[in-house]
Amino acid sequence: MSKTAKDLKNELSFQKKNGGLRFSEEELASAFTFNEGYKTFLDHSKTEREAVDTMVSMAKEKGFLEFDADKTYAPGDKVYLNNRGKSLILAVIGGEPVEKGVKIIASHIDSPRLDLKQVPLYENSEMALFKTHYYGGIKKYQWTAMPLSLHGVLMKKDLSKVTVRIGEDENDPVFCVTDLLPHLAQEQMKRPAAELIKGEELNVLIGSLPFRSDEESELVKTAILSALWEKYGICEEDFLSAELEVVPAFKAKDVGFDRSLVGSYGQDDRVCAYTSLMATLELGTPSATVVTVFADKEEVGSAGATGLRCVFLKDFIEDLAAMQGKSVRKVLANSKCLSADVGAAHDPTFPDVDEDLNAAKINYGALISKFTGSRGKSGSNDASAEYMGEIRKLFADNNVLWQTAELGRVDLGGGGTVASLIADLNVDTVDIGVPVLSMHSPYEITSKIDVYSLYRAFVAFNR
Ligand code: MN
Ligand code: MN
Repeated sequence: MSKTAKDLKNELSFQKKNGGLRFSEEELASAFTFNEGYKTFLDHSKTEREAVDTMVSMAKEKGFLEFDADKTYAPGDKVYLNNRGKSLILAVIGGEPVEKGVKIIASHIDSPRLDLKQVPLYENSEMALFKTHYYGGIKKYQWTAMPLSLHGVLMKKDLSKVTVRIGEDENDPVFCVTDLLPHLAQEQMKRPAAELIKGEELNVLIGSLPFRSDEESELVKTAILSALWEKYGICEEDFLSAELEVVPAFKAKDVGFDRSLVGSYGQDDRVCAYTSLMATLELGTPSATVVTVFADKEEVGSAGATGLRCVFLKDFIEDLAAMQGKSVRKVLANSKCLSADVGAAHDPTFPDVDEDLNAAKINYGALISKFTGSRGKSGSNDASAEYMGEIRKLFADNNVLWQTAELGRVDLGGGGTVASLIADLNVDTVDIGVPVLSMHSPYEITSKIDVYSLYRAFVAFNR
């Protein structure tokens, strides 16, 4: 009997699958449980430094030891390399010789935010404020009129370090970038959206009480300086050697009546950091050596000694190669990488930016992008069909829910990731992540099913 159109359609056509329909009750419960840990991680890791601290302490608990290039490691040994407190490598030595290649997962732990300028403190109209310079791609107007917290470090003249984290505890004060009331915003509302709030208007309100005196000027600023001296032992000059980051003060929460989504600041790209961290912490002895990287500075082009343009990753792999008497070139040529970073989720309110077939959908699982870039894939890594095939088989064999997508319609915009930087080392690389709603905003949204699927993808890859 010849086949019907329905038979043929079922057998031959491709349908993306919604995890909400495909997950078993147990899988759904596991996904929800996994995301509880994820939310806690987000709340403790609002900056790259805090993420490194959190991850190092979690890794130590699982038996990871500080890497020593002069030692020789055996299969199952677990090490970490803390690069200046702002980027991190975890590795688990595999059973196979390193020349067969290592498995790299590379995510980033910096997120868009407001950085304090080097001379930030001033008084105007008897209020004290901080000047900022935003970090990464933000819609500036989104950062006004909400509670903000202050995180970071100051190096004092004697090179002692002061760590700051204000606005996260229930009883902490918070800070705020003020915006104009609608009643007086007629002129402001005529500005193009990119200038609705200008860079130099992202000033953070930090106080208003003057130091009690009838002499001197700038008494509010003086009162703030006095409070900072009493609490932290710092003076105004100490801001010159500081990295202070202003981020949203709210905590990660479930979103939706069904609690199916996670809302939080900084999910780009700490969602990939947490999922790859968990998949690496639980390893016994993997077949290939696993190298999980958490990089800084991705949002500003991966530059600097803690970004992935730096040689620290290559040097680390070279040390692993040297331990087994092999050249790093051979190791890299046989290595595989998942470049772990988020993508844009299809937003029902803004459907026009996507092309349906190739849009990333919430709840459809881990998101693979064969290529990124813009205007003719420019700046993209563009993974090979062969490597896409390997990944496809890996996910099928391990029952990983996944989808492919591009970032928006052709020629509408675009973006890049660290994928091409790893590929430049002669490593097969493909982009993976989860779809995010309101990406790069103070409150990004992901799906618990997708987050869990990404974790399962990393577990399968690392095995
Ligand atoms: Mn990212
Ligand atoms: Mn980003």
